[in-house]
Amino acid sequence: MPPPRSDLGRLIELMTTRRVYDPWQDLARRSGVALRWHSGDVGRFRNPFAVTNFRELSVSFSVGMPDWQMRATCAHECAHLDRGPITPSELAREEERVDLLAAQRLIDPALFEALVQTYPEPSATQIHQVLRTSEDHFAIYEQWRRGAGKQTAFLAWEQDLQPWPAPWIENHASDMPTATLRAMAANEADTDFDSTSSGRMGTFAWLPEINH
Ligand SMILES: [Zn+2]
Repeated sequence: MPPPRSDLGRLIELMTTRRVYDPWQDLARRSGVALRWHSGDVGRFRNPFAVTNFRELSVSFSVGMPDWQMRATCAHECAHLDRGPITPSELAREEERVDLLAAQRLIDPALFEALVQTYPEPSATQIHQVLRTSEDHFAIYEQWRRGAGKQTAFLAWEQDLQPWPAPWIENHASDMPTATLRAMAANEADTDFDSTSSGRMGTFAWLPEINH
């Protein structure tokens, strides 16, 4: 039997009006960011899921991750790109902020509530298949939701994409290589670029450490 017309209308309204966050689309719109892949260690990091390198403005992902881990990792790195580099002493706190931001963007509050009502302590597989993200994101999101109501959760989920280039990049524009600035502006300005400069990354001597 088909669903009642009112339910179908509600479903179509939700599907066509909600902006579902796609971390890969969010990464792809960031002109000037080089996408890389790795297998094993990256610098001082032991087999990281991903590494965002602020010096050369690149993101490297580990090969062979399942879909839910790729989504979780890509959303995490996009949050790093929004927020920019931090000092080593801020690193642990920054990782918590970035994980919460990624979880808020990825987890549909309606799906989260349906999941925990059905399975108060969902398994890893249930989290991966329903929310399409990691247990870490589920845990940090669940803790946040104890103090955040439904409306707050929906606002966080439906938030607009952050501007790109991010403010932290604009603040350092005078230090940045011309080729990188041109690559980042390629999606915004009606400017001619020569093929040798667009997309080529320089080295950001002014930027501190990489993040994972
Ligand atoms: Zn991180």
